[in-house]
Amino acid sequence: MGKIIAAANQKGGVGKTTTAVNLAAALGDKGKKVLLADTDPQGNSTSGVGVDRRQSKVSIYDILINGAKASEAVVKTSFKNLDLLPSHIDLAAAELELANLENRESMLKNALGSIRTNYDYILIDCPPSLGLITTNALNAADTILIPIQCEYYALEGLSQLMNTVRRIKRQYNERLDIEGVLLTMYDGRLNLTQQVVEEVKKYFPRKVFKTVIPRTVRLSEAPGFGQPVLYYDRASKGAEAYGNLAKEILKNNK
Ligand code: ADP
Ligand code: MG
Repeated sequence: MGKIIAAANQKGGVGKTTTAVNLAAALGDKGKKVLLADTDPQGNSTSGVGVDRRQSKVSIYDILINGAKASEAVVKTSFKNLDLLPSHIDLAAAELELANLENRESMLKNALGSIRTNYDYILIDCPPSLGLITTNALNAADTILIPIQCEYYALEGLSQLMNTVRRIKRQYNERLDIEGVLLTMYDGRLNLTQQVVEEVKKYFPRKVFKTVIPRTVRLSEAPGFGQPVLYYDRASKGAEAYGNLAKEILKNNK
């Protein structure tokens, strides 16, 4: 049974998509079968693995709203062991449309149930909100991975996020756990970065990954080529960091 990990944080620009894409690719590279599920209407994970979301006939939208089978929406990527559930432009409306459905919180969970056995890991890239799409992701997930950008106001919104996690545990998914908190866009030369690291460690004792993701230009360039950084520049610091994160997660899940 594949483990389902949701990369979530309602703040935009903290590295959810970069992490979902590059962790998925790194786990695939290490021989694990991986499915990347893009639940963000922006579709950055979809384009980030070289898939044009206008091409996909069946998408996450159909899974969430029309009860489509996940197997109908799965697309193979050109990267090792990596499949995709593509986003769709219509997802922007899904948040509202979901509100009218009876199983509005469990559409994704129900759909993934039938294909989980095909994968070792399913990574869900969440949109930057705490609405019904993120609720679906956290309801379906075994764990949440929280990327935090080493910037001013890094901790802002985290209590809201943790309240959402607690609510989902109480209402739908008792076993939801924290996979880890990932420090992204790390620059060890900056005092600010060090301060953020200390604060985050205080807030999440024992939950912060040892691996940190440095701020590097290769990580921001790779999506423009529709490639995880590992395939764009295998020798880059970004590829190394996400490789280390994959190793850390595999070790934690042994
Ligand atoms: P989110 O999905 O949380 O909105 P993204 O992963 O899209 O965040 O990242 C926001 C922006 O920052 C993107 O342009 C991305 O390329 C860039 N970025 C993310 N992580 C890094 C990093 N470690 N170094 C440099 N740029 C990064
Ligand atoms: Mg994103």
